[in-house]
Amino acid sequence: MALLQIAEPGQSTKPHEHKYAAGIDLGTTNSLIATVRSGVAETLADLEGNHLLPSIVHYAKDGTISVGYSAKIFQCSDAENTISSVKRLMGRGLADVQAIKEFTANQLTASGIGMPAIQIFDEIKNPVEISSEILKVLAERAEKALGVPDGDKLGGVVITVPAYFDDAQRQATKDAAQLAGLNVLRLLNEPTAAAVAYGLDTGNEGIHAIYDLGGGTFDISVLRLEKGVYEVLATGGDSALGGDDFDRAIAGLLVAKANVDAEDRQAYQMAMLKAREVKEALTDSDIIDVHFMNWDGQVNRSDIDELMAPIIDKTLLACRRTIKDAGLKPAEIKEIVMVGGSTRVPLVQEKVGQYFKQEPLTSIDPDRVVAIGAAIQADILIGNKSNDQLLLLDVLPLSLGVETMGGLVEKIIPRNTPIPIARAQEFTTFKDGQTAMAIHVVQGERELVDDCRSLARFELRGIPPMVAGAARIKVTYQVDADGLLNVSALEASSGVQAEIQVKPSYGLTDSQVTEMLKSSIDKAEEDMQQRMLREEQVEASRVVEAVRAALEDNGQALLSEEEFEAIESSLKQLEIIAQGTDIEAIKAAIKVVDTNSQEFASRRMDASIAKALVGSEVDEI
Ligand code: ADP
Ligand code: MG
Repeated sequence: MALLQIAEPGQSTKPHEHKYAAGIDLGTTNSLIATVRSGVAETLADLEGNHLLPSIVHYAKDGTISVGYSAKIFQCSDAENTISSVKRLMGRGLADVQAIKEFTANQLTASGIGMPAIQIFDEIKNPVEISSEILKVLAERAEKALGVPDGDKLGGVVITVPAYFDDAQRQATKDAAQLAGLNVLRLLNEPTAAAVAYGLDTGNEGIHAIYDLGGGTFDISVLRLEKGVYEVLATGGDSALGGDDFDRAIAGLLVAKANVDAEDRQAYQMAMLKAREVKEALTDSDIIDVHFMNWDGQVNRSDIDELMAPIIDKTLLACRRTIKDAGLKPAEIKEIVMVGGSTRVPLVQEKVGQYFKQEPLTSIDPDRVVAIGAAIQADILIGNKSNDQLLLLDVLPLSLGVETMGGLVEKIIPRNTPIPIARAQEFTTFKDGQTAMAIHVVQGERELVDDCRSLARFELRGIPPMVAGAARIKVTYQVDADGLLNVSALEASSGVQAEIQVKPSYGLTDSQVTEMLKSSIDKAEEDMQQRMLREEQVEASRVVEAVRAALEDNGQALLSEEEFEAIESSLKQLEIIAQGTDIEAIKAAIKVVDTNSQEFASRRMDASIAKALVGSEVDEI
């Protein structure tokens, strides 16, 4: 989703009104919370000094819930009741996640809220509940660190989500926050947060790539900052590629050295934990001593580099694909931002630098950079900054429109409009006596409904019967700050109304959005032609409709049989021609009907005047 910078008026607050806000990076492997204090954004540590909170939740039989490092210790001993990587389940369907390796098949069950859930003893925990436990611990940490008075709460939080998260996944994240008692100021895309942390949003126009290699996921995002608009040009990556793969490769090495059975689950778990230690230690040293099971020896950085190189190459392949998707070349990337704990690996930095032919930005701790960006945004959103501070705002990624006659799209809110926004447009009835109107909400840039994405349909009923074109139906599109769309329709004279809530980007990935935009540009001319044709066809059917109604009304009385037949046959002719694609021919056929029915129209006029005269007193005339 693209973002726009604006200055929000009236946001400056006096010091004593300082509100507590925080940014939260709710990660697959680790989560963090950060806040702005004395103008500096920093992540907050727990009592032991740990900034990272492992995204792990353990449910004990007695009902005790532990989160983070205290849950991690149960990972081997009580694996069934220890949940990690819950982010992978958020907003997904059971069928989507069946293949995810972190969860054993018997752990996952239906939650009743559409998402898969996890069986814990005789209870079922859904991903929203599990995530909320992580959020609660982070919020408590922030409240303590900030000295929020007892009984008081954090004023608001910004939570980051991957750029490719769809509406269901975003909604699930918001629900988790709500369950944790948090006020979500906004969800922010992780790559955007990282760019904000480096201050790339302040005056660094151009294209930036965010390379995010975490524990179990790799995300590459290409953003363009132009005239204050942050736009996601493309996202890519691999949802099953990350530091864990380094660990697996290194664990293989350890298992071989110690000569243990790789099939032994417990031994393998221990090898994985050791592997991670080895990997992280070799980030700072070239060689280390290792003790694993009955093996004592040394491991070199070059030993593990060899194991990690093919995995890193896979990430670069994904980079190439994504940059190509965005229609760019690596040389066009102005800055490359490193995010995620795994980008600490020296070989990752080296290979990324080689690929992009520039030094990647690494000065901010790659674990913390997303939380820091989120904290900066939260501080602005809560109103702790003066007027001149810039605020990132979401903009609509695709236009929202309504279907009009002939299957055409009338755009109500064009793409890249900052949200929240409300826009209204008036429509009218097509037929005499029409009492209902179907409203079809669509999203996309193309001229025809068939080429756009259908979001919702609803009906406005109970319109009082009037002649065609007399009813005034106001259709209002309202999009809130989180991108949720509400459409309402109101008939002015009678006050009847109907409305519906839709999620405009539901299920659309950023690359689908890009694809839709691309095709609207490619097809612009063809679309214009189509639109003209449809418009002429609509006009044709309007003429047929109106003249037929008139014929029925008093055609028999006012016309001779031949006259009646002549009009009727020109109508039939028009109906046939209107089914074709020759715009000029349709225009000509409409003209024929016009000419043929001119005399009839004037007789009708006379007749209606006569009728009016009959009904009025002589001195009124
Ligand atoms: P996520 O975004 O998935 O929550 P993180 O960004 O916290 O994940 O990254 C976690 C990964 O970073 C783990 O695989 C961890 O081993 C790795 N990591 C953390 N510190 C280092 C280090 N010093 N050297 C190498 N890898 C590291
Ligand atoms: Mg992360």
